[in-house]
Amino acid sequence: MKVTTIRTTWAESELKQNTHIITIGNKCIIVDAGASLEDVLNVVGDRSVEAILITHAHFDHISNIDAYEIAFGCPIYMNEHSKKFLHDPILNVSKFFVHEIIFDAENIHYIKGKETLHIAGIDVKAIYTPGHSEDSMCFLCVDNDIEDNSEQIINMVTNRQDVSNLEQTKVLFTGDTCFAKAVGTTKLKTGNPKRLIVSLNYLLKLDFTTAYTGHMRHTTKLEQQENIPTWIKHIKSQLLANNEK
Ligand SMILES: [Zn+2]
Repeated sequence: MKVTTIRTTWAESELKQNTHIITIGNKCIIVDAGASLEDVLNVVGDRSVEAILITHAHFDHISNIDAYEIAFGCPIYMNEHSKKFLHDPILNVSKFFVHEIIFDAENIHYIKGKETLHIAGIDVKAIYTPGHSEDSMCFLCVDNDIEDNSEQIINMVTNRQDVSNLEQTKVLFTGDTCFAKAVGTTKLKTGNPKRLIVSLNYLLKLDFTTAYTGHMRHTTKLEQQENIPTWIKHIKSQLLANNEK
């Protein structure tokens, strides 16, 4: 699989969101729905879109979901808790960043807990990782038809080189659970620092080479093995400080 990222700017809020397009031969899977349909179509070309994976239903990750649903007519996968976010501008946090937005998409497969999907010839493990929001999910995508080139990919990502033209075998899509040098905020509605710690620890047990995040640049497992423990320590000390107050 190859991964291309479209970085979207929200004119009203300066919020930049990453929408990822996984390409496997002449098929695609889209991760999140922040980018405009036009930008997505430019990457997809004449390939077929087999599925849309949503990491969580904060408005910046689903802003164009209704347009994608009509254009691609493929299944949309979200966590079971995302359902209530779609129609609630407080839960999808649009009310606090832009203006109240609700979404109409209906062709949605709601995932309960863990589920392994087989889409476009790759395995997609949907993993429930609450903490940043109640409905946060990560997707571990594994392409067994590709020879392992992890070392090359890690070197290139570490040196900030473009890897979008390279085939990859094990990619994690993290949404807003973790970032290159940060982790997701728990300050928004339904955020929960204790649950985030559990989710972050779980991510370190997964076998992946690169991680594509909901904001900012992508990262590697190697980098996350330093980043995640640092932030867990920080969150724990904040929890303790709050207890002492
Ligand atoms: Zn979010």
